[in-house]
Amino acid sequence: MIPQHVLVLNASYEPINVCSIRRAVVLLLKEKAEILEHGPRAIRGVTRDFPSPHVIRLVHRVRVPRYEARRMSRRALFARDGHECQYCGSRSRLTVDHVVPRSRGGDSSWMNVVTSCAPCNARKGDALCDEVHMYPRVTPHTPHPGVFIDVAMARRPAAWSPYLIAA
Ligand SMILES: [Zn+2]
Repeated sequence: MIPQHVLVLNASYEPINVCSIRRAVVLLLKEKAEILEHGPRAIRGVTRDFPSPHVIRLVHRVRVPRYEARRMSRRALFARDGHECQYCGSRSRLTVDHVVPRSRGGDSSWMNVVTSCAPCNARKGDALCDEVHMYPRVTPHTPHPGVFIDVAMARRPAAWSPYLIAA
């Protein structure tokens, strides 16, 4: 089976992204990346064939965008918070809660959003934490890059595992 996604490592072996096979092949053709793990099947190129890439490594180190700059998404937020309401621990009817409500000047940054079940979100309403004595279990923070890789992939291929241990 050829995986539909390829794990991209920085030159420093830090996992930084997930890309399509097509994109990976372009990077390999331009000699901007090398194959670290590949499958048994070959991808036919114009001048030569490639083994289908599973994990590639960029030849030159790139500057990874600050994680704060990565777009906030419900999926990434829920993954960061372990799919648990940060107020009561419920795992159902999850919503996005602004710790400082937007009506009180709170923004939608990673530092101000937490996973909340719908009942807790309704209970907290437009109040500040101190006003209702509801505090998130974990201080909101920017997710680890591994969270984005998990979100991009429904399932991590086995060939990726050795490179994600440190992630
Ligand atoms: Zn809750």
